Amino acid sequence: MSDQHAFETLAIHAGQEPDPLTGAVVPPIYQVSTYKQDGVGGLRGGYEYSRSANPTRTALEENLAALEGGVRGLAFASGLAAEDTLLRTLLAPGDHVVIPNDAYGGTFRLFAKVISRWGVEWSVADTSDPAAVRAALRPSTKAIWVETPSNPLLGISDIAALAEVAHSAGVRLVIDNTFASPYLQQPLALGADVVVHSTTKYMGGHSDVVGGALITADAGLAEELAYHQNAMGAVAGPFDSWLTLRGIKTLAVRMDRHSANAERVAELLVSHPKVTQVYYPGLPEHPLHEVAAKQMKAFGGMVSFRVAGGQEQAVEICNRTEVFTLGESLGGVESLIEHPGLMTHASTAGSQLEVPADLVRLSVGIESVDDLLADLTQALG
Ligand code: PLP
Repeated sequence: MSDQHAFETLAIHAGQEPDPLTGAVVPPIYQVSTYKQDGVGGLRGGYEYSRSANPTRTALEENLAALEGGVRGLAFASGLAAEDTLLRTLLAPGDHVVIPNDAYGGTFRLFAKVISRWGVEWSVADTSDPAAVRAALRPSTKAIWVETPSNPLLGISDIAALAEVAHSAGVRLVIDNTFASPYLQQPLALGADVVVHSTTKYMGGHSDVVGGALITADAGLAEELAYHQNAMGAVAGPFDSWLTLRGIKTLAVRMDRHSANAERVAELLVSHPKVTQVYYPGLPEHPLHEVAAKQMKAFGGMVSFRVAGGQEQAVEICNRTEVFTLGESLGGVESLIEHPGLMTHASTAGSQLEVPADLVRLSVGIESVDDLLADLTQALG
């Protein structure tokens, strides 16, 4: 499939030519660990051992590369496995990374509790302010790590401006594109060096698979990442790759609906007397709305808000919804609600990334928006 096709077409076809053996229009699940060799080293289809490569995973990896506009995509067992592989590829003891002041709790935990034990240093900057990021750079800085939109406060960072900051200092820019998905935002085209995904979220889209991905447009870096993917081994299995590919086929239509529903939800929350603040990049009052409008096609399905009455009220609301299911994760077709401080972001307690206690996070699904609005209205009381 030529990369000249539109996103929606690539999502369905890239990496997935009909199976040459049977004509099956969907790539088979190659549930296999090893491959017969015709004499030592005589590989029939280039496959040797499924940690190194597996045809179902290859289909996903080619698809991911096409959707993000990279030269190579790599699929992992989870988003954190992808992040870990990236960090251990880019960094050595003594190196420094700038990390954002709002990020997924597990990403923060990876820096604060795991990677730091191997002598990697990190410091926090407000990545929505390129000058603050520039000021945080040290001679030992090797990477700037950014989530945009960020989890859970929906902060926006200007990818093109940060690419300039990074590259003028010889530093790599990493963008976690999980909240936007490549349908809404293409960080590599804006100058980022590596895109990270938790494919568990919008890419998979159905809350039925955990996975992660790295995509880069730098051929040299792609080689190094692929080497580490095999050397460290946290790869996506064939069935998980297949489920993720199936989810991606409908990514474009799902993201349109997620975004449309989330805009309505944000409008409802803004006008609700018990809501004290709404975080959604589609709102004109979002401090970086203009940047979001410049680099995103629409504003996505994640909305966070704070409520009067503190943590107790926030937890109460999470317990009262009926269509929004109380649970961690995001990006599936079904709407989810959670309390980040006690759930997904508990590991940020006491840090510069601690989230407000009165914060509620919504993953707005693709159900009828009227049912979603009615559910939130009854839960808010
Ligand atoms: N990045 C973001 C923005 C996330 O929200 C998450 C998980 O919630 C991850 C990375 C980690 O991905 P996984 O849970 O697939 O390991």
